[in-house]
Amino acid sequence: MRKKIYSKVKCVVFDLDGTIYFGKNLADQAVQIIDYAREKAGHVFFATNNSAKTPLEIYEKLHERGIHLTPDEVLTSSFLLAEYLLKHNLHQTITIGTDSLKTFLHEKGISTDSKKAKAFVVGYDPKATLKDLDYPLNYLPKDYLFIAANFERSYPIENGWKTPGAGAMVKMAEFVLQKETDVFVGKPHSVMLKWIANKFELTPQEILMVGDQYKSDIQMAENFGAHALLVTNGEANPYPCKHITALAQLKELL
Ligand SMILES: [Mg+2]
Repeated sequence: MRKKIYSKVKCVVFDLDGTIYFGKNLADQAVQIIDYAREKAGHVFFATNNSAKTPLEIYEKLHERGIHLTPDEVLTSSFLLAEYLLKHNLHQTITIGTDSLKTFLHEKGISTDSKKAKAFVVGYDPKATLKDLDYPLNYLPKDYLFIAANFERSYPIENGWKTPGAGAMVKMAEFVLQKETDVFVGKPHSVMLKWIANKFELTPQEILMVGDQYKSDIQMAENFGAHALLVTNGEANPYPCKHITALAQLKELL
């Protein structure tokens, strides 16, 4: 029996890809662990760097798989991206991303293929090609802002298979446009946890972040001063942080 080191935590924030699900498959005991975390901590939240889907689409995906949650318990980097653009008055952009991301931005009054763009946005789009860089290469002004909605190299899907992440497109765009990314809106920046802390009026120490990526999930929690727990999914942990080897082990610590 392990010591319940997170018994004082009031909100457990779960990463999704590689933590709660692997492509179409849920992690072992995911439904029970999330229910247990909610019962013990009081709040649970789901935070993903996935900018390809809207918070509502993520909610539907989790709900269909039997996870108990409400639509306002999901935070995506697409949501934070829209908030950032609106806050900084960047209503005209050139955006690389899925149709879902573009529709989400359009609904907020943000254009995604403007010849007067002041911002260039890159989100996850598995169908993106070199051709998508024609427009930004020719239309962006000198002083535009380069914003990345996520920056993963790769992420795990079914049966241990990995697939390239949005970071590949960000790097390609940086090379072609000869400019480095100015702003990241997703993990490891602490914006997501700050947003959750404000929503529930919690201190960083009352939040536990559980995720499978050291450089996004764990570093975000460390940047914010929250507790962090790495799920290694059976692999060794080369990082200086607490870990469990499978999500189901979280139960012993809450
Ligand atoms: Mg993950």
